Amino acid sequence: MRQKIVAGNWKMNKTLEEANILASEIMGMVADEVKGDVKVVFCTPFPYLLPIKNMLGNNPRISVGAQNCSEHESGAYTGEVSAAMIKSINVPYVILGHSERRQYFGEDGKLLAKKIDVSLKHGLTPIFCCGEPLEVRERNEHESLVKQQVEESLFHLDAASLQKIVIAYEPVWAIGTGKTATAQQAQEMHGVIRKHIAGKYGQQVADSISILYGGSVNAGNARELFACPDVDGGLVGGASLKSREFTDIIKSA
Ligand code: PGA
Repeated sequence: MRQKIVAGNWKMNKTLEEANILASEIMGMVADEVKGDVKVVFCTPFPYLLPIKNMLGNNPRISVGAQNCSEHESGAYTGEVSAAMIKSINVPYVILGHSERRQYFGEDGKLLAKKIDVSLKHGLTPIFCCGEPLEVRERNEHESLVKQQVEESLFHLDAASLQKIVIAYEPVWAIGTGKTATAQQAQEMHGVIRKHIAGKYGQQVADSISILYGGSVNAGNARELFACPDVDGGLVGGASLKSREFTDIIKSA
């Protein structure tokens, strides 16, 4: 049985006060309404990781994650945050390779491989994002691009390390656009990713890795997406900023 995960990617949104309200509202609803086998992760801006984590206490169902970390260990990198720092405040997850990081901050597969390594070294669980832009899908090259993204950043790992990764398939054309992939498109690509991993690491390893779908997930489409056999939950942006809707999405997993 793979771990089901619903992660909220808050991106660069909310004040601390608003963040506290959002997290406490969701926490209250999740306590009453959500099945115990779904893991919920709030991927907050860096300044809120510790306060939100402290507010959650030892809640076994909800934890926090960073949205990025440096590829460097430590040192003279003004403005950067290291994997060791994130680990030192007991934050378990870190999103790596989100398409916004790839697009606006020039992150490529090689750099992401370094970020994956340093995150694993410090015991973080990376949520590794991959996904194709619209023009790549229109050229019908989405499968090969996503396979290449996974290869470039993950295939240097041994099987035990790979099994510590969570993958998020996020087609770029679906992120923040309201244009969700159909359940069929999501299942197809998740199947492609899992098969690609199985080709290198074997079926057992591939079957153990949670692959989340991201891109305009909302309360109306989550159930159908999460019902796909290779979709193990979601990475949710816009809809994770609304407590009622995000709770409905969690309930759909
Ligand atoms: P969205 O964002 O749900 O707003 O499309 C998803 C993401 O960027 O992770």
